[in-house]
Amino acid sequence: MESAFADLIYNNGRFSTLDPSRPEASAVAVQNGKFLAVGSDADMQRARGPVTQVVDLNRRCVIPGLNDSHLHLIRGGLNFNMELRWDGVPSLSDALRMLKEQARRTPPPQWVRVVGGWTEQQFAERRMPTLEEINEATGETPCFILHLYDRAWLNAAALRVCGYTKDTPNPSGGEIQRDSKGLTGLLIARPNANILYSTLAKAPKLNPDDASNSTRHFMREMNRLGLTSAIDAGGGFQNYPDDYRVIEQLVGNGDATVRLAYNLFTQRPKQELDDFSKWVKMTKPGAGNDYYRMNGAGEMLVFSAADFEDFLEPRPELAANMEPELEQVARILVGSRWPFRLHATYNESITRMLNVFEAVNKDIPFDGLHWLFDHAETIDDRNIERVRKLGGGIAIQHRMAYQGEYFVERYGATAARRTPPVRRMLEMGVPVGAGSDATRVASYNPWVALYWLTTGRTVGGMALYGESNLLSREEALRLYTQGSGWFSSEQDRKGTISAGQLADFAALSADYFSAPDEAVKHIESVLTVVGGKVVYGAEEFSKLSPPLPPISNDWSPVRYYGGYHREERPALATHRISAHSCMRHERGGFALWPGWTGCDCFAF
Ligand SMILES: [Zn+2]
Ligand SMILES: [Zn+2]
Repeated sequence: MESAFADLIYNNGRFSTLDPSRPEASAVAVQNGKFLAVGSDADMQRARGPVTQVVDLNRRCVIPGLNDSHLHLIRGGLNFNMELRWDGVPSLSDALRMLKEQARRTPPPQWVRVVGGWTEQQFAERRMPTLEEINEATGETPCFILHLYDRAWLNAAALRVCGYTKDTPNPSGGEIQRDSKGLTGLLIARPNANILYSTLAKAPKLNPDDASNSTRHFMREMNRLGLTSAIDAGGGFQNYPDDYRVIEQLVGNGDATVRLAYNLFTQRPKQELDDFSKWVKMTKPGAGNDYYRMNGAGEMLVFSAADFEDFLEPRPELAANMEPELEQVARILVGSRWPFRLHATYNESITRMLNVFEAVNKDIPFDGLHWLFDHAETIDDRNIERVRKLGGGIAIQHRMAYQGEYFVERYGATAARRTPPVRRMLEMGVPVGAGSDATRVASYNPWVALYWLTTGRTVGGMALYGESNLLSREEALRLYTQGSGWFSSEQDRKGTISAGQLADFAALSADYFSAPDEAVKHIESVLTVVGGKVVYGAEEFSKLSPPLPPISNDWSPVRYYGGYHREERPALATHRISAHSCMRHERGGFALWPGWTGCDCFAF
């Protein structure tokens, strides 16, 4: 028999519940991982039993746990500990200094790699690094740096390791740049990014134990930013089921701290139908549990439908074989009642894809199936309406915050005003989920995405939209929580703080609703709770933070710099320390709270 008492009560908070029937509350009671009750501190006393634990939220602003509806979390996790992140780094000189330090400490045969999440617009210098600077900083350590989906730089050592020479032919849709002396080290997507990813795939991987440790640290980084759920969009070189073993084992051990729904992404051009025909027999949507569930197909369904979001290059026209190939796969998926998602950047591509879906629907009705387009930066009203009629949704991400300047240069400021037309999507009644598409173009930091949704500005500060395409803070938050829930068919289970929903929430470092615009980018969680349990705590909640094994590779850049760059808090700067062996306090420039007397982050 279930007890009437709560396992936990969190009180003295300022909850924004996103539940219209009770938008604000000061306390919640949790039982069996779900909200038992939501209300005032006094209300919760009724649920307090002899063994109920009570946590004082110290008047913090509390929101439902964030849900990124398009994140490459599995791949990001397998690689996190190996990657140097320039996400949020304010200057190129800082970025190059980090590169130089990291190259020195990276042992062979490992590479130093910066795999997206940054743009030169964020740097004070407003420029990219040069190959001379990269070679100078990295010397004999192979180095790979990815910029958006358009280029990568290899230093001379990496060119040698990859075996690229002046005789290496350019792959189709890609360029290995050369000059009179041979290869320069620059790889360019024209506009197929495969040359970038296939080169990165030549770098050493982590062994399974280290990859597991890396995934845990990546999830902790998500928790630090208030994320409690994500939908994994698959990804190039992420093979099912082999590359899912690490995450499955973590879930099995109870060590997953971000709930994950995952889509299956075909890796084999021309054999996509084969993959999906096999997979619909191997597993089914919803298989798994609250922490890890199968969510259907995509974001790649057929390679002929891949339009690359590289605004430095002209829009690619999809090949004529796209329609028949996509139709075959769509028939299998709809016939098997598999939800699916499809990567689509341009309206012209979306028109053709919708032609296919409408034809399939005549034969095999979609009938409420949750399917969606990802990205849809230039979708027009007519196609939004067609999506709505077919019962589809649109998952949007802040890719424009990283490449808006390039879009404006090519297509003009007027066209950029609705990239994507979020407000129109909402007005027209299409389900919309928010996310990042991290880790390679945009950063995974949800606060940068919320800043973009509410201010319309790129990370470089350019204003992209008129008032009419901006969201209020609450609307944006809703897309990042409840909105994303629809995309894994969990809209009734997560996204608000209300009785019966999964007890996922975050208490924040600042008041999201009243913080100045620029401060929104720097918000973090100070207490993240998944299923009622604390998965991350900082500041006054540090002691509640569960221990995490240290990063297993002593050369890992994350040990030194953390993930997303943290602004130093000026008031705390006098408490800096340098040599210290705990993960959370070790990162460069981390400041400790006044009154700190010793580190109790880890019990070992
Ligand atoms: Zn995509
Ligand atoms: Zn993606």
